[in-house]
Amino acid sequence: MRPKGTKQVIRDDRNCLWHPFTWMPGYLADDPLVIAGAKGIYLRAADGRYYMDGVSSMWLNVHGHNRPEILRAIARQGKRFAHISVFGQTHERATTLARRLVAIASKGLTRVFYSDDGATSVEVALKLAFQFAQIRGETRKTKFLALRHAYHGDTLGAISVGDIEHFHHIFQTLLVKCYRTPSPADMDSDTCLRALEGVLKKHSDEICAFIVEPIVQGAAGMLVAAPGYLAGARKLCTKYRVPLIADEVFTGFGRTGRMFACEHEGVTPDILCLAKGLTGGTLPLAATLATDEIYEAFLGADRVGCTFFHGHSFTANPLGCAAALASLDLFEKDRTLDNVRRLEAIFAERAPDFARVPGVSRVRFKGAVFAFDLPKGSARPACAEAQKRGLLIRPLGDTVYLVPPLATTERELRKMLDIVALSLREGAGMRVKRPTSRQRDAKRRRAGGRSEIEGPHRYSGAR
Ligand code: PMP
Repeated sequence: MRPKGTKQVIRDDRNCLWHPFTWMPGYLADDPLVIAGAKGIYLRAADGRYYMDGVSSMWLNVHGHNRPEILRAIARQGKRFAHISVFGQTHERATTLARRLVAIASKGLTRVFYSDDGATSVEVALKLAFQFAQIRGETRKTKFLALRHAYHGDTLGAISVGDIEHFHHIFQTLLVKCYRTPSPADMDSDTCLRALEGVLKKHSDEICAFIVEPIVQGAAGMLVAAPGYLAGARKLCTKYRVPLIADEVFTGFGRTGRMFACEHEGVTPDILCLAKGLTGGTLPLAATLATDEIYEAFLGADRVGCTFFHGHSFTANPLGCAAALASLDLFEKDRTLDNVRRLEAIFAERAPDFARVPGVSRVRFKGAVFAFDLPKGSARPACAEAQKRGLLIRPLGDTVYLVPPLATTERELRKMLDIVALSLREGAGMRVKRPTSRQRDAKRRRAGGRSEIEGPHRYSGAR
């Protein structure tokens, strides 16, 4: 039963809204799913049905929806002021949060520059790295270096370092120059690091930063990196004097089992990008952290050359900062990272079952991320089937994945996995077929001879 007003929502949606990453004629073919409420890991649709949020509402949600602790913190701040500018002035929620972020980030990251979203945190990082080189007189360093399959957001700078042809090819002519190096999800780390060193040897005098998504490349299809790559890349960046930017917009705040993915390999980047889970997934707020070395370069006497000309109207929004502080408290109160370890153990236990399903390939997991590939065209119907069974997930190309809220209980996660399994085995409209031996060989080649299950056991040597 639809509550009163849902018809109007649908009418307004059809008439006035333009949805992100959406081919609108396809979207308009059906009535949209109207969400009317949310609590914990559940979303309540306007027709009264409940759905488990298997993708944390675009990889954001950490502690479950509508946690009263976060809502109260937002309301408390709202009574003081909802927004004031930090252009030339400051406020306590922004300064306290900055101190706490510096305290939990890798040692050496000491300055916090706020913005609003993942893409803006990346824009800030890229512009900082560029200007840092210019200030140091390295004027030829005007290009970037990024991983194959990279995704860093949808603004022009972020697209320039991205490598997802399907999303961004149309904008190619607008972009700044970026070199590419192989992804550690495609090959072993030694081979990958040799390729990286090759690029750095040749071009380091033109490259102002190397940007990576550490440990898991999310939008590329939840690709798990070969162990050792990140630490090796850090060493090479230091050797060739190229700052390392870690984009932890997706991996940050516990997603991979550590507060920040860089911790898996004991790495301190020169610049760190944070967003999504920063506020527990409740309000748009982002932060770009930098080292003293970078910050101090901007302390020169040249008023124009040493000012970082970047800012947004809502920089350091107090409501967002209040939500972020409450979220950090919940990490401690709920022992959230311990729960991620429990979720990862369930993925490890269930991965072999998925690997045995005909058509399923490259089962992989890390922290609260689980993914596998299906034959071309099968992921979308599998996700649609899961939705019918009460689990909201979206495919990434041919990849089906789960990134549940970190607060998901073991019972809830098992239920999600049961629904995914059922959607594969009994899913109406599924076209999962046993792959031919040629397809299997090609798949093995793509996996670089690795086991079909890629999980954290591959990280046993890491810190
Ligand atoms: N970087 C990474 C690694 C991401 O996964 C994303 C978004 N999925 C972004 C940047 C962009 O974040 P936003 O959508 O908040 O701009």
